[in-house]
Amino acid sequence: MADRYILVVDDQMNNIETLGEVLGDEHDIHFALSAQQALVQISQQMPELILLDIMMPDMDGFQLCEILKAKVETRDIPIIFITSLSTPAQETRGLEAGAVDYIVKPFNASIVRARVHNHLELKRTKDLLRVLSQTDALTGLANRRRLFEHLDAVQDKALRLDQPLSVLLIDVDSFKPYNDLYGHIAGDVCLQRVAGMIQSSLRSVTDMGARYGGEEFCCVLENADQELALQIAERIRANIEALHIPHLHSMVLPIVTVSVGVASSTSSNRSLHANLLMAADKALYVAKDKGRNKVIVL
Ligand code: GH3
Ligand code: MG
Ligand code: MG
Repeated sequence: MADRYILVVDDQMNNIETLGEVLGDEHDIHFALSAQQALVQISQQMPELILLDIMMPDMDGFQLCEILKAKVETRDIPIIFITSLSTPAQETRGLEAGAVDYIVKPFNASIVRARVHNHLELKRTKDLLRVLSQTDALTGLANRRRLFEHLDAVQDKALRLDQPLSVLLIDVDSFKPYNDLYGHIAGDVCLQRVAGMIQSSLRSVTDMGARYGGEEFCCVLENADQELALQIAERIRANIEALHIPHLHSMVLPIVTVSVGVASSTSSNRSLHANLLMAADKALYVAKDKGRNKVIVL
């Protein structure tokens, strides 16, 4: 894949050329002639793996490795040192700096190919596991674990940038009777359609939709004050109503509807996300109490 490349960082062009010959048939190889140049390239496009020389002028490979391992965005990129420094102490230092492997020059081409292949496989498996551990299997939305991680992160960001933050709690109305009437499998399909509509009603970059549990969903709206949160909540409610999914035993309408509780925090009213969720839950309860298929903020 063109967007998955291996970055070779070495101050000597002949080393880069040799590695290019060894790996170029199977991989997209980019190179950097210094640690600084590597940092610029990585900030522009994330490599899948880095082959890193140690002895380079200015910043050496150990230092670059430490910088990359200290940053959240780059710490998961596998780094393989490829160097002429061959003492156990040097190798230990490289591995302790967070590299996944250490290859001593002069290297054997097929061993380099095999090690790169193995580390790429491991990285892909880890990436897949991470995605699976954060995704709700039925709806494909973020799961509860990812939701709470995200809430922690956006809450810090909102404080730092002095931005408002809002959450929506969305609950499908009369869903137990839906399952009872149409069956659990149809219930699952209904939840998938509701989830899809929630996702497509959100702003693409700043909002996150998650499955909170059962037939409840939670949306986190970054940089959204109460007015904007109410608009988005109303759009979700109306779009789900407009799906016209038949529900003859609903106590609201003969179609599937949702109730939405909204809560917002601003700089004058800072609340922790646990409190925001609690406030949204109270609002949701009122929406249910007032007849369902409603958006409520308290
Ligand atoms: P209300 O309008 O007050 O929200 O009523 P309700 O019937 O929706 O609420 P209740 O909490 O009594 O029922 C929720 C139902 O959602 C019960 C449960 O079987 C169903 N449910 C939860 N998770 C799933 C799921 O993954 N698939 C299906 N098909 N049903 C689910
Ligand atoms: Mg519920
Ligand atoms: Mg419900």
